[in-house]
Amino acid sequence: MALEGNACTVAILAGGMGTRLKSRTGAIPKPMALVCGKPVLEHLINLCVTHGFLTIALLVHHEHQVISDYFGDGSNWGVRLTYCIEQEARGTAGALNDALPVLAERFLVLYGDTYADVDLNRIWSWHHTTKADATLFLHPNDHPADSDIVELDADGSVIAIHPYPHEPSRVFRNLVNAALYVFEKVGLVGSLPAAGKADIAKHTLNALLAKGRRVVGYISPEYIKDMGTPDRLDKVERDVREGMADRLSGRAPRTAIFLDRDGTINVEVSHLSSPDQLTLIPGAGEAIRAINRSGALAVVVTNQPVLARGDVDWRGMEAIHAQLDKLLGEEGAYIDRLYLCPHHPDTGFEGEVLSLKKICECRKPASGLIEQAVADLGIAIQQSWMIGDSTADIVAGNNIGLQTILVGTGNAGNDGKYTCKPDFVVSDIKAAVSKILSRRD
Ligand SMILES: [Zn+2]
Repeated sequence: MALEGNACTVAILAGGMGTRLKSRTGAIPKPMALVCGKPVLEHLINLCVTHGFLTIALLVHHEHQVISDYFGDGSNWGVRLTYCIEQEARGTAGALNDALPVLAERFLVLYGDTYADVDLNRIWSWHHTTKADATLFLHPNDHPADSDIVELDADGSVIAIHPYPHEPSRVFRNLVNAALYVFEKVGLVGSLPAAGKADIAKHTLNALLAKGRRVVGYISPEYIKDMGTPDRLDKVERDVREGMADRLSGRAPRTAIFLDRDGTINVEVSHLSSPDQLTLIPGAGEAIRAINRSGALAVVVTNQPVLARGDVDWRGMEAIHAQLDKLLGEEGAYIDRLYLCPHHPDTGFEGEVLSLKKICECRKPASGLIEQAVADLGIAIQQSWMIGDSTADIVAGNNIGLQTILVGTGNAGNDGKYTCKPDFVVSDIKAAVSKILSRRD
């Protein structure tokens, strides 16, 4: 919990003009745009209250009196509001700089034009354990090609932020800055502008990286979306009304659709070892997009013995998955999380990586990958599914208690390795997802 005297533990950037929303909001400022009958800013304040963040700085500029007339001192909502009024537009980084005197040593930053249903305590505590100067909430989205992509190292530290448009030759994993941060005030020294305009996402984060500050990524499937255009506003409203934000919140266990990779999502080629060998099975993008829109998680679990064989190293595997993310992104689809087994039990091959040659708990039909996902993402097994083309996929799913669907692509269950009894057999991933989603409501 984040009580620190009178200092504000949350800063909400609420200065936006909302030019692109004008057709909906008229003269009112963007944070007052209604989502399900309430200003989006009110949703954010309620979110803070729910998680015990009760001292909030509102960084306002455009038509700020509309906001202060509505919220007053915040007492009707059970919070204490401090208004930081920008006389001239200084961008998000400038506004944050000017608000520093009222902010606590550690604080959250939320955007007043973004709908978020996020466990603020969870990211707050996580930030504390990382000892980072800044934590960025990251997630995959359905339009990575026109988003700023965040590149992480294996430990979850941010290496670089790649603004769009991206060079065609550079392909990244689909991991996007969702615009929710935890900052240490001391870590920001020298990275915010004392004068002039600057932007947190475009300037401050890069300044932190250039100074060698520790910036980490917090990856979560929770719902967070900006609603700065009429189209996005409609989408957010629909998602909230249809319960998508709630399903992703983690308040109740989440539903997942586990997907095998080779032969299920992409066309099977023996020992796929380079991104240019990757082709989506027709309908795979559409199927995964449907999973995304349903509020279920799309989780890939894949055996990749090519790592143990020495055919591909970890960097190469990352490049293959960046290409997979890119192809899916072109169809408005994304994978929430990908788990792989790099092992193989048999030794004695030229070029093999001996440390990966072992009997493990993660190679399907073992259920280690699925168990890890269940623990990481709070998944309810009995309402979740496994879709795969191999007998090992079905056995892995059945053993842990998932409902299983065998598809007719790839191996089509003809690998002869295990005896398995899928709950359903269908032609491909698209038919499998249709079957699952049609049974849900
Ligand atoms: Zn393994």
